[in-house]
Amino acid sequence: MALAEQLIREIDERRDDLVVLTQELLRIPTLNPPGENYREICDYLARRLKKSGFEIDLVRAFGTPGDSDKYPRWNVIARRDGKRSGECVHFNSHIDVVDVGHGWSKDPFGGELEDGKIYGRGACDMKGGLAASIIAVEAFLATLPDFSGAIEVSGTADEESGGYGGVAYLAEKGFFDPERVQHVIIPEPLNKDRICLGHRGVWWAEVETYGEIAHGSMPFLGDCAVRHMGAVLDEMENSLFPALAEKRTEMPVVPEGARQSTLNINSIHGGQAEGDDDFTGLPSPCVPDSCRMIVDRRFLLEENIDEVQAEFLQVLKDVENKRASFRYDVRELHRVLPTMTDKEAPVVRTVARAIEETLGKEAEYVVSPGTYDQKHIDRIGKLKNCIAYGPGILDLAHKPDEYVGVEDMLDSAKVMGRSLIELLAQP
Ligand SMILES: [Zn+2]
Repeated sequence: MALAEQLIREIDERRDDLVVLTQELLRIPTLNPPGENYREICDYLARRLKKSGFEIDLVRAFGTPGDSDKYPRWNVIARRDGKRSGECVHFNSHIDVVDVGHGWSKDPFGGELEDGKIYGRGACDMKGGLAASIIAVEAFLATLPDFSGAIEVSGTADEESGGYGGVAYLAEKGFFDPERVQHVIIPEPLNKDRICLGHRGVWWAEVETYGEIAHGSMPFLGDCAVRHMGAVLDEMENSLFPALAEKRTEMPVVPEGARQSTLNINSIHGGQAEGDDDFTGLPSPCVPDSCRMIVDRRFLLEENIDEVQAEFLQVLKDVENKRASFRYDVRELHRVLPTMTDKEAPVVRTVARAIEETLGKEAEYVVSPGTYDQKHIDRIGKLKNCIAYGPGILDLAHKPDEYVGVEDMLDSAKVMGRSLIELLAQP
């Protein structure tokens, strides 16, 4: 396997380049919200990939949530066509990072290298993966300049806030059309020996119970919306939560605890709004006439979204049958269907073989408990041959002193590079 040996050498020679590239990406603070410096990082990536022979598209997602002249949603898509026709392999990374938060001992935008780890917000999620994919692509081009097919690298906005100004927008514009792209690898931090096939589904809803306002000293003259919501919670404890725990999935979700249906109560607000911290007065005595709850239901490939909805509405109907004057509304806020790429799909089999050859161990297949941009590639782009694969430890994402290991980035770059050889080296 002379090609693979040369590729590995090319990647090892780029170690310093990989470190500097990761550091420079980390030093552009692309905080989302609000969505800062997207244009700066896209320009940086464009300059870099242009040097490697890529055609550059800069696309602003006009009018998407959060897009404004102050915080424009910029995306970069770089494409290089080979000498002969063939398939296109696309590496998609989100360029945004989440809020820094407290508890850092390093500069979150310093890109400090210490003991083989590079620190910074977004180091593992996912500028390290982006840097590894660029090094993999550049080493592959040096190894096999006259390849077949095409390579694309994209840096996209807003993944952390739903991806509407990023991958969703690009998918609507045809960038993930199966005619144009055949294989997608998203270098999210899932550990270098794991292939993430997809994610569970999401259904968010807001429930509001109604009452009647009255003086707090005579609650019998009103109707307490919070007590009605209490009855809803009680019904959920007695019937819904036990039922959800029974619904197990064949999806290999990690961690293990998420291998079932789950529901989180995101928030409850009832009665008067709480005063500001500096307000020293007392509330006025009132019976609450409204109580609102937001639920975050995560569901499985084996479940249907209509059933998920109907099951929740049944809880409310059961309460309605037991309580006089129970009135409520339900509003859907957000939905994402679950997705899971077939283990026999070409991109999965290719990356699995590359993991085995590079790391000498079998690939582990996982599914993410939460969603990522694969949802848009699947649903809007209609492209099923998509996985997440990249360096970094998922548990470090969004935490203080987030880092990515240089050795892990090199190993995953080798896996990505070998995959390119397998997919694009045909004569
Ligand atoms: Zn991410």
